[in-house]
Amino acid sequence: MRKPIIAGNWKMNKLVAEGARFVVDIREKVPPNEEVDTVVCAPFVHIPFISEAARAYHVKIGAQNMHYEESGAFTGEVSPTMLEDLLVDYVIIGHSERRQYFNETDETVNKKTKAAFEHNLLPIVCVGESLEQRENNETVDFVSGQVKKALDGLSDEQAKQVVIAYEPIWAIGTGKTATSEEANEVCKHIREVVKEAYSEDVSEAVRIQYGGSVKPENIEELLGMSDIDGALVGGASLKEDAFLKLVEAGQ
Ligand code: PGA
Repeated sequence: MRKPIIAGNWKMNKLVAEGARFVVDIREKVPPNEEVDTVVCAPFVHIPFISEAARAYHVKIGAQNMHYEESGAFTGEVSPTMLEDLLVDYVIIGHSERRQYFNETDETVNKKTKAAFEHNLLPIVCVGESLEQRENNETVDFVSGQVKKALDGLSDEQAKQVVIAYEPIWAIGTGKTATSEEANEVCKHIREVVKEAYSEDVSEAVRIQYGGSVKPENIEELLGMSDIDGALVGGASLKEDAFLKLVEAGQ
């Protein structure tokens, strides 16, 4: 069985002291890693502090982006080597906000996904359609294409460890959630794509999260679906009590 993974994406929120306090407040209440993976994806500047606070507890640390090169003249960027050095566990790659505002493409997503594995980081690869694409019935084709390109060239072992976050853009931060059936249908297609590209074995291992206005009120229904193995959560991950409820639902 696939282990559920609940990841909070703080985006560009919280000051460093607030982030560290958050982790201290939740760390003893987070269920053991054997039951659910709990990940906090924080802004880069928080990472040294929260990873210190999380060490020896069941809170895993994620970054929200990274460059694919190890070092060099890339002003303002953070490399996979730097994240590895801070013992970061996960990295979000290709979030729709990065694709929309920072020119992230399927090609850079693929390079970053490969770079993550070279540096002991597990990628959370984000895919998802716009409202216009959904209304034009292009969702499955578009999302399938994103998944194929993101995972291109991975070994079977790597592909098994990828976390894919299906996040319909129209549901992010809008309060509009895809119904659990709608979300599950796309997640099922994503698993098919992984099966065609790799094997049934890989597709049964890969974890697929849903993201987009996930909150304590809708998490259980989403996690009850056959192909949804967790959630990537923005807004509701900013408050300790709501985040803990989401994690408990993953147990
Ligand atoms: P939301 O964000 O939960 O605030 O909709 C989800 C995300 O962008 O990962």
